[in-house]
Amino acid sequence: MVKLTKVLELSAKYAECRLCGSDKIGNGAGKLIADDGEYPNKFHRSCKCGWSVTTDENGKEETK
Ligand SMILES: [Zn+2]
Repeated sequence: MVKLTKVLELSAKYAECRLCGSDKIGNGAGKLIADDGEYPNKFHRSCKCGWSVTTDENGKEETK
């Protein structure tokens, strides 16, 4: 379970895409998923430009 405080922390940390700087989510512009769907116990943020990051419940980034 990802704690709400961690979700908020990571949401702020990854609000802006590292590649293009977009902070848009939804309508195909980007995704922010916390502890849901295909990312149980994880935090996931992705951007339409192809950038994405996934962390574990402690905020540690996963490498693919
Ligand atoms: Zn981007």
